[in-house]
Amino acid sequence: MSGPVVRFAPSPTGRIHIGNARTALFNYLVAARAGGRFILRFDDTDLERSTREFADGIEIDLAWLGVAPHLVVRQSDRVALYEAAAERLKQMGLLYPAYETQAELDRRRKLKQARGLPPVYDRAALALSADERAQLEAEGRKPHWRFRLDHRVIEWQDGVRGACRIDCASLSDPVLVREDGSFLYTLPSVVDDIELGITDVIRGEDHVTNTAVQIQIAEALAGAGKAPRFAHHNLLVDASGAGLSKRSGALSIASLRESGVEALAVAAVAVLTGSSDEVHAVSSLVELAQMFDLAHVSRNAAKFDPADLRTLTQRTLLKLDFESVRERLAAHDIVGAHAEAFWLAVRGNLDQFLDVCDWWRVVDGEIIAVVEDADFCRTAAGLLPPDPWDEKTWSLWTQAVKAATGRKGRELFHPLRLALTGRETGPELAKLLPLIGRAKSLARLGA
Ligand code: GLU
Repeated sequence: MSGPVVRFAPSPTGRIHIGNARTALFNYLVAARAGGRFILRFDDTDLERSTREFADGIEIDLAWLGVAPHLVVRQSDRVALYEAAAERLKQMGLLYPAYETQAELDRRRKLKQARGLPPVYDRAALALSADERAQLEAEGRKPHWRFRLDHRVIEWQDGVRGACRIDCASLSDPVLVREDGSFLYTLPSVVDDIELGITDVIRGEDHVTNTAVQIQIAEALAGAGKAPRFAHHNLLVDASGAGLSKRSGALSIASLRESGVEALAVAAVAVLTGSSDEVHAVSSLVELAQMFDLAHVSRNAAKFDPADLRTLTQRTLLKLDFESVRERLAAHDIVGAHAEAFWLAVRGNLDQFLDVCDWWRVVDGEIIAVVEDADFCRTAAGLLPPDPWDEKTWSLWTQAVKAATGRKGRELFHPLRLALTGRETGPELAKLLPLIGRAKSLARLGA
């Protein structure tokens, strides 16, 4: 048996935000954990609103998060499959033409509501005779096409919500094909899920209401029991409880990336918020995959505070070993024999990764040294031990300075830090000093 086959199916009508990343990562982690396959499917049948730029941008966003699809498909390339499926449904008598205009449908819905009846489509089109249909078409009306629902209760075992049921008698027959022959979301989604062998549909709970219809269509096309499993997760909401929309600009993956938030911090917040696992920093998606379990996802709203992304970024950086950042450092010319020791020295003092550039300048470049007490610094410079230096050098040196000057505590250390780094605070000097080296230390101390 091979592992699960899952898909993330964004419509490329905008870039993705952290709430969409939640869905993408849930799918990705389920596949990663069990040796399955993750398919990226662009639901781009809405030709007016979908663009290639958005689709490409979404791929970039996912790549940044570390989510690499095994396969990318676009619904706009697959229309022939949907047409064939629609044809089969027509032949089975399950897809029927309806001629009502939107205005007619609205009027009938209002009448029903006024009488206190549920606003369900009355299937008037199903009662039309062939002659009546021919006449409507002769008047120039074009049909849209509705799926004839079986009025039974559909039940499924939801991977997050447990036992679910929807009585299809309470639903309108869904429109699958528009007047102009284009497809709404429902049929292409089911056709692709079958055709791509999707075993598990993991998506936001805003899609629960589509599920019974999709199960019926899947069973009509592929046979009883052939629908995939479904899991509907809670949605991320911001601290005020408001949902995220495509317009939630600041929480788009692209803007989080640009603002210096770490991808793994986004992933940890996206995945662990609203679950029984505490939100905490992780050092890889593999680590996240090992602990991730759909069964831990809560049914309550997943409330998160965007400010947590900052703290989690700091904690994530602290967890990253040199190998996982080697290339990123090299991209900023942080290379060479000291690169690893440098990373281990500074990773706990970064608000964002780019701060490495400032610290690299401290150890490898020029800074403006701050010498507040010139005599003291000159004395200290005279006591610097000879090369070679290592992590013990700092303590040997400061003991000597203490003995010579009688200073201790902040009075002893602070002027040295200021002179050597130009800053009030920073990484442990025991680690920085050997990286700065003797020549630079002498110069910065004003010797
Ligand atoms: N394109 C749909 C969406 O973005 C996909 C829903 C699904 O996963 O079935 O909401």
